[in-house]
Order: sequence, then structure tokens, then C-alpha cells
Amino acid sequence: MAKVNPKLIDELKELGAFDISACYSCGVCTATCPLAQEGHEFPRKIIRYAILGLEDKLISSTEPWLCYYCGECTQSCPRGADPAGFMMAVRRYLTTHYDFTGFSRRFYRSKVVELISTILLFTVTVLSIYLVHGPIILTRVDLDSFLPPHIVELGDIVILVVLSALLLTNVYRMYRLTVMARNIPFTAYIKEFVRTVVPHFLTQIRMLKCNRNTLNWIMHILIVYGYATIFIFVVVFLDLFQTNVLYPIYSPIRLGGYIASAALLIGAGYAIYGRLRKDTVMRQYSHSTDWFFLTLLYLVVITGVLIDAFKYMGLPMETYIAYTVHLGLVTPLLVLEVPFAKWSHLAYRPFAIYFTRLNDLSKARTVQVTA
Ligand code: SF4
Ligand code: SF4
Repeated sequence: MAKVNPKLIDELKELGAFDISACYSCGVCTATCPLAQEGHEFPRKIIRYAILGLEDKLISSTEPWLCYYCGECTQSCPRGADPAGFMMAVRRYLTTHYDFTGFSRRFYRSKVVELISTILLFTVTVLSIYLVHGPIILTRVDLDSFLPPHIVELGDIVILVVLSALLLTNVYRMYRLTVMARNIPFTAYIKEFVRTVVPHFLTQIRMLKCNRNTLNWIMHILIVYGYATIFIFVVVFLDLFQTNVLYPIYSPIRLGGYIASAALLIGAGYAIYGRLRKDTVMRQYSHSTDWFFLTLLYLVVITGVLIDAFKYMGLPMETYIAYTVHLGLVTPLLVLEVPFAKWSHLAYRPFAIYFTRLNDLSKARTVQVTA
């Protein structure tokens, strides 16, 4: 028997601004949604689950992740119920259910908790640097002496291992909650993974189809690739970046850093500008976690650019301070945003497409066997 949670709508309302109680289930939103398809009709079906309090059905749905928040359903809704905003709130709700630590729930429900956690991580990182830093050489910029690379590398590895463990655990919990039948051969798991997760993560192509707005898609891609590039540079190639060597302007290492930073500044700047102007349906309402993510991202890039500028201008103290602040900001951006908040959707979306495909295959096999 389905479990009914009479407070489900109230719980969802804490995570977004919408008025789904106005919905009279006409289905116009589903008819206009460019991503809804046979067998996966949304958002109306998901709205019904929420209105009826069918918590288990909602939690086991992958459809909220198949929505890319274009806002076409909200524009066509005759009741002003804002189904697009509702789907966004459901994604936040699902994120809190995949996360076993309970941090996501706290971040999404309280901006004070997210702010305090961010400040705490920033302070701990800066204090750690203060305690372990080496000699402060003021006659030249000497980052290697200020903070020996092996210390930063150790911090990188610890963060990487913890992040990967948390994110993979959350994705596994998502799998347990959403993939219903497991009568699929192992080879199909591999084949479908390669066909779905890899291309959708790399191209974010459904967003292009959803928005029919190439500019939004380009900006999104700039953020994804800019972030991924900086992440790889810092975690894998730290030796090349935290160095006393002054690369020439045409060096691929320096150019690569500039291109990734420019991509992030443009992409995040565009997102911040749109949210301030509230120029589209998808930017009418911004949750505090959206602002935390964009602000942290922007500050990380700006401090990264400052490190480079101070280093090349030959300003030692300014370089060390910018580097310390930069690492202090990078920590909450990685530790909080990747597994628990905004950034986690980059993993959940392609996996949702994968899990949906597994469920469809499983259903097809069941029908075949029954027939
Ligand atoms: S959200 Fe609006 S368009 Fe969708 S079913 Fe309800 S009333 Fe109709
Ligand atoms: S926001 Fe766009 S993709 Fe999402 S349900 Fe509405 S129409 Fe579909």
C-alpha cells in the first residue's frame, strides 16, 4: 500500500516558490513540455504525486531530473501554478533524500546553516594554512616556500577521496531508490552507461532541446567545462600551477588557465546577471543555494586571477594573501556544493537518464517474458 504523507506539499514548498494547489490537472504543462515523452509524462504526473502525498512514488521518480527548467510549462499553465518552479523544488527535495548525511536537507532548509558552514570551512582552511605555512619570503614571490606543494597536494587528495566517496554513495542511493527491477544483464548496464551518462554529462544536450536557447546552453557549458578544467588543473597538475616559474603569456599552461577562468567568469556572470534581472521564468525565483554557489564560484575565479596578476607583478605578500583566500574559498565550493547542494545535479541528471533507461529496458524484458 502506498505511503501517504499529508505534509508533502508543505515540505516541497519550503524548497521553492510555486502554487501547485491551484493545479486542476488539465495536463497542458505536459503537452507543452519539450522533454516529456510516452511513459515519462511530466510535470503533471509528478504534481499529482505531490498533491496526493505519494512520497514513495515521488522519491522513486527519475522524471524531475529529466526536466531542464526551461519554463515552457509555467508559461502555458492556465492556473499560474508554476510547474517549472515546482519541478525545481522537487529536485532539491530528491537531493535531500539521496544524501544520507542529512547535510543537504539542512542547507536547503536554512541559509544560515549554509552560511555558517561556508564561513567555518573558510576559517578552518585559512587557519590551517596559517599553522603550516613555511617561510614568508618578501624579496620575491616564492609560493613553494610559503606553502610547500606536497601539503596542498595532500589536502587535494583528501578532498578528492571524500568528495568521490560522498557523491558515489549518493548516486548509489539514487539507484536503490529509483531503479525498480534488476532483471537486466550486466552487459546492458555497461552499454547503457556508455550510451547515456558519458554523452549527456559531456554535452548537456537535453538542455539545448529544452530551452531552444543556444545562448543559455553555451553559458551552461562554459561553467561546466571551465570548472572541470580548473578542477583537473588544481587536483592533477598542481605542480604546474603552484610554482615559482613565470610562464610566458603564450605558454599553454598559462593560456589554459586564462581560458578556463574566462569561461567561468562569463558563464557565472551571465547566470548572476539573469537572476538579478529575473528575465526568464527559470530565473524568477532563486533559492539561497543558487546564490551561494554562484557567489563562491565567482570569488574563487577572481582570487585565482589575482594570484596570477600579483605573481607577475612581483608582489609577494599580496600573492600569498590572495592564495590563502583562494584556497579558503575553494574548500567550501568543493566540499559543500559538489556532494550536497547545487553542483550535485551535474551527477544526478545523467544518472537519471541512465536509470530511466534501465527501468524502461527492465519493463520491456518483463513484457517479453510475460508474452
Ligand atoms: S500545472 Fe497548470 S498546466 Fe499543469 S496540470 Fe496543473 S493546471 Fe494544468
Ligand atoms: S520546465 Fe521545461 S522541461 Fe521542465 S517540465 Fe516544464 S516544460 Fe518540461
